Amino acid sequence: MARKNRVASSAPDDYRITPEPGRIAVLASGGMDSSVMLGWIARRGAAVFPIYIRAGLSWERDELAALRRFVRALKLPNVASPVALKIPMGDVAGDHWSMTGKNVPGYHAALSSNYILGRNFTLLAKGAIFCARNRIGEIAMAPLESNPFPDARPEFFRAFARAVELGVGLPLKISTPFAGMSKADVVRRGAGMPLELTLSCARPMGMVHCGACTKCAERVQGFIEAGVADPTPYARKRARPRLAH
Ligand SMILES: [Zn+2]
Repeated sequence: MARKNRVASSAPDDYRITPEPGRIAVLASGGMDSSVMLGWIARRGAAVFPIYIRAGLSWERDELAALRRFVRALKLPNVASPVALKIPMGDVAGDHWSMTGKNVPGYHAALSSNYILGRNFTLLAKGAIFCARNRIGEIAMAPLESNPFPDARPEFFRAFARAVELGVGLPLKISTPFAGMSKADVVRRGAGMPLELTLSCARPMGMVHCGACTKCAERVQGFIEAGVADPTPYARKRARPRLAH
């Protein structure tokens, strides 16, 4: 009976999954942060498995195309072709701006307006199962210091990793190597990478950024603060944004 009351530290033996060393999955959106993180991780030699998650957001087709171009341009043999996994959220997200592409937060909106309920939760849920199926023991995602969301905090990632070990049997490390970085830091870290092939816009037209949404404002400001020429094509480019959290 003592066994019954004990707090389990992992899944029962029959269900445990042992990862193969040297493999890392990267949750990649095609945006600048996760693309630069992907390139940075890949340069350190691990076998990298980029994962793009389709939840039904209005800009996904352009993002996935951007991610594929970026990975091809890296020309690194240790990076697999991106896999696109689906976890459709339209049935619970309703007419949220991220699904409809209408009334997206504007250029001067607070960064917190970019919040999508359960975003990291769902990305990690699908990503963790992909890792379990492919014996991958680490998954990386790229929240920055400016990310104020509840599911971007270290305590959330710790709890999620614990849930994966208990419920899936996989000891999974969730890495957020850019957690202390600003957008300008990302621009600098991306030196030598094809940043013009990354896409961070809520209303893109192919690879052309709208230049009028919060994500564009963050991007514009990141290049300015880094002192790096911005190679991004914008449909309209405004003056330096004033961003609040
Ligand atoms: Zn935009």
